[in-house]
Amino acid sequence: MRKVESRKVVIVGCGLVGMSYAYAMLNQRACDNMVLIDIDKNKARGEADDLCHGLSFSHGNMKIKSGDYSDCADADIVALCAGAAQVPGEDRLSLLQRNAAIFENIVPHVRNSGFHGVYIVATNPVDIMSRLVWELAETNSKKVIGTGTMLDSSRLRYMIGQYFTVDPRNIHAYVMGEHGDSEFVPWSQAFLSTKSIPAIISENPTRFDMSKLWQIEMEVRNSADKIISAKGGTCYGVAMAMTRLTAAILGDEHSIFTPSVLLNGEYGREGLYIGVPAVVDRNGIREIVNLQLSRDELAQFHLSCDVVESAYRELAPQFV
Ligand code: NAD
Repeated sequence: MRKVESRKVVIVGCGLVGMSYAYAMLNQRACDNMVLIDIDKNKARGEADDLCHGLSFSHGNMKIKSGDYSDCADADIVALCAGAAQVPGEDRLSLLQRNAAIFENIVPHVRNSGFHGVYIVATNPVDIMSRLVWELAETNSKKVIGTGTMLDSSRLRYMIGQYFTVDPRNIHAYVMGEHGDSEFVPWSQAFLSTKSIPAIISENPTRFDMSKLWQIEMEVRNSADKIISAKGGTCYGVAMAMTRLTAAILGDEHSIFTPSVLLNGEYGREGLYIGVPAVVDRNGIREIVNLQLSRDELAQFHLSCDVVESAYRELAPQFV
């Protein structure tokens, strides 16, 4: 009899982000087997029970339980959402020391379980945390993927879609760089359907205005702060991004997103994790897409790399 493949995902950190991801995964039937781990074992148990009690209304009989790091041994994906979150007014980089210490504790347990799958990292500051995971996990960098600017790119597509009154899925545009204040939009690479957005603006000067798009770029950059002040944290958008990334990995989709990945000479940089367009397949990152950035856009990208690199060196000297 043919062996039935079981797509197994372990989620470490059952807070707002981890559980929004788990809930999205259940509703999209994105895996067959889901294990929840949290330092607060009781919370993980309660969350698993709560999800299981909805199974009879779901689209399949997913296995869900709380567990421990031995569950990572045969997992396809371990998603790391554990750690401290921003409080209103706090930037992502100031979380680094706290979350680095948490990951120093978590990642060796995952590694020592014999895990050979793909790590998805959501914890902030996500570019630096992804690099730390890669270093601590002692695995191929292609198997360590941060959510990078996936959420920011989704916010951007949504807002551009609103402006042009077009489905965001027909907007092809990216936020690149740090998932943070130095992120930027390479507008030369932004398209509505297959038409360049700057070209649409210059052909329709009475209808559309480039300054409105720059304002959208700023709104995207400030989105997290706005949501954190309003409701204490962001969770659904990133959870949808993680679920989409999970489906792309488990489905060997070769889909393109803007995750945080290790640069190896692309865009003239190497050795750091940052958000760039990349092709995702069953093994993680297949390759980075090298976009033709303008001179100004490339300068913005380098500035963002410098911010991430110097934060890594200043705030985590023990890892350098
Ligand atoms: P939260 O406080 O709600 O949850 C964190 C969870 O981690 C808690 O359940 C806590 O018990 C658990 N935890 C802490 N230390 C642990 C350890 N050593 N082992 C196992 N579990 C541990 O926080 P949240 O709102 O879910 O945010 C989680 C992270 O995700 C934060 O760093 C936040 O900034 C980040 N985040 C990232 C994005 C993104 O786009 N990448 C978006 C939103 C939030």
